[in-house]
Amino acid sequence: MEVTYCRYHPAQPATWHCPGCPRDYGDCCVPLNAEAPDEVPLCPLCRDKLRFLGAANTAQPFWQRIPQFFQYGLQPGALAFAAALCLASLFMPAWKLLWLALFCVASKYLQAVIEDSSLGIREAPSLRSAFSIEGFSLFWRVLVLFLISFAAVWLAADFHSEALFWAVTLGVQLVIPASLIRLALDKTLGAALSPDQVGAVIKAMGWRYLILWAFLFILWQSPGWVTYMLAGGLPKVVLMPVAALLFGYFSVVMCAMMGYAVFQYQGALGYVAVEDEAQGYPAEEYRRRKALAEAEIRLKEGQGTQALELLAMALEAAPNDLFLNERFHQLLFGLDARERCLRHLAHYLPLAARLNPAQAATALLNARQLRADYLPDDALVCERIAQALLARHKTREALSLLRNLHLRFPDYPHIPRAYLLAARGLAEGLGQIEPAQRLLSFIRGKYPQSPLLAEVEQLQDTLRRLVERG
Ligand SMILES: [Zn+2]
Ligand SMILES: [Zn+2]
Repeated sequence: MEVTYCRYHPAQPATWHCPGCPRDYGDCCVPLNAEAPDEVPLCPLCRDKLRFLGAANTAQPFWQRIPQFFQYGLQPGALAFAAALCLASLFMPAWKLLWLALFCVASKYLQAVIEDSSLGIREAPSLRSAFSIEGFSLFWRVLVLFLISFAAVWLAADFHSEALFWAVTLGVQLVIPASLIRLALDKTLGAALSPDQVGAVIKAMGWRYLILWAFLFILWQSPGWVTYMLAGGLPKVVLMPVAALLFGYFSVVMCAMMGYAVFQYQGALGYVAVEDEAQGYPAEEYRRRKALAEAEIRLKEGQGTQALELLAMALEAAPNDLFLNERFHQLLFGLDARERCLRHLAHYLPLAARLNPAQAATALLNARQLRADYLPDDALVCERIAQALLARHKTREALSLLRNLHLRFPDYPHIPRAYLLAARGLAEGLGQIEPAQRLLSFIRGKYPQSPLLAEVEQLQDTLRRLVERG
């Protein structure tokens, strides 16, 4: 199964699917409402209910998580399981019924590991959970599964054909993981033994099933190898518990890996697990993100008008949201909605000048394309945008905002500051020393009380020296 991505953001894995459209969406396009966590989100285009894809596209592939599986087996619950096996091998009398009970507990615990891992749970289950009464029927199913496997191999051995024997043995080993996965998913023996259902698991994973199987095969062999290597110098009393301990540990690691494979391929296996709690946003932020995401989708679908309406509605609820305003402005400008764009600028420019002057400067340059003599009707807005434009070396545009500021806004208290800025622009940006000097003299003459006079004089000195040298 290949990973699918958001139709509008090719780098984002898909988490939602609209069967009607049909389209895949990532979390990027479908924000969730924290205040209505059970609400199924609707398709941004057709308003049908979306189908959740779970972590099928976001889960890390199991072969990249091998170290985590080995760590999984070192958690308290898993270690307690291995220790229990070890103690049993040491002290348990050889009563068949007691060993059957042990096998029962062990297979219950391992099934719990598969089941939890298949839901994306990273903690190993506690050993105590394996002693509970419920779920014992599962054990019988595992037992039947193993008995049938043994029977198949045993029958094959009867034919006195080495080739047939190995073919059946490998075949059984190949199928057992898929069969156990099916059992963990459906809990019925029918599914675990049905060639169709087991085949579906293998088909869903494709050739990657072989990777899983190879890992399981190696893991399955390793306790045997380790005990074989230890066997040289150790007495049986020591060897048995060591073998039991290793068997317990590796079984848990194997089952964690199988369970995770189910988690990773949940989409293809036809069920959905939610990893952790889905991340929802507080109502206000949710509405904002939803409007932005849906407007972007509409725009990418070539439906600019609908995109505008979505943003206009969101702006009614949050008129001073800078990001929403910026998107709205870009969209109006991009769609060439001249009058509406100019009307919106009257609200947007003061907001942007206060919160992000560089952004306001861009908007002003856009406004000038719509109307060549566009001027904001607020002195502070003019001054702030002029400063941002000067920083971008847009000197002429900046100076046009400051020209005759004292006539346009006679009550503005920061005229000296604005004109000092203009003088710097004239001298540094355009090399017009004389007009700059005239402007500085004007400040000194008209605003003798200004606290900026020291700076004005300093700039005058600098300019005078420049003229003398030049
Ligand atoms: Zn997206
Ligand atoms: Zn749809």
